[in-house]
Amino acid sequence: MRKITIAFDGYSSCGKSTMAKELASSVGYTFVDTGAMYRAVTLMALRGGLFNNEGNLNEEGLRTMLSTATITQKYNPQLGQAETFLNGENVEGQIRNMDVSDRVSIIAALPFVRTEMVRQQQDMGRHGGIVMDGRDIGTTVFPNAEMKIFVTAKPEVRAQRRYLELKAKGEDVTIDEVLRNLEERDYIDSHREVSPLRQADDAVVLDNTNLTRAEQSAMLLALYNERIKD
Ligand code: C5P
Repeated sequence: MRKITIAFDGYSSCGKSTMAKELASSVGYTFVDTGAMYRAVTLMALRGGLFNNEGNLNEEGLRTMLSTATITQKYNPQLGQAETFLNGENVEGQIRNMDVSDRVSIIAALPFVRTEMVRQQQDMGRHGGIVMDGRDIGTTVFPNAEMKIFVTAKPEVRAQRRYLELKAKGEDVTIDEVLRNLEERDYIDSHREVSPLRQADDAVVLDNTNLTRAEQSAMLLALYNERIKD
């Protein structure tokens, strides 16, 4: 059977990864979380002390660090999902905290960071059989993807979901902080010069504010079955 490329894009914390991961596992495709790659670069910048006290970034320092960094995702069969590695270290536990979330959109707006990440992502998906989630997958990384989904949900619903996730991990955050972070990231992601977040013309919109997981999965599988026939 032919293997297609599936692109998920959309706003922060609207459940893209969960849906994309689930679809990938039910159709036997590789799942790639591109947000995790930008998060790993951000963690590297934070650890390298590249932000000064005013929050300004040393871009040249980042360019140098990025030129020798390796960011990979490896499937962990025990967890049933991929984990992100930065220079060989498993950083899955650190890339989703608020320090990283607060800075990631600034890093992801830098053209040299995007060029490198997009190159790696295109390389990972060159044989098809991939489900990739991010902000520019259907527009820039794989503009010819056979199946494109643009996911959205009300900001309050997204903030509540992310808040519960962070609390479950023991992070000390308020729902207002989470909501502010989501709105700020959405704004930066949609207004940056290079590959801003936008819906591809041929994407199917999925607003999951009021959908159950089972309803979403059924809808996605039906669309997948239609697209592999085309
Ligand atoms: O998907 P996630 O929320 O983990 O992504 C974190 C951030 O990475 C986003 O807010 C965005 O700034 C950036 N990103 C991006 N392009 C992608 C994936 C993520 O700019 N393809």
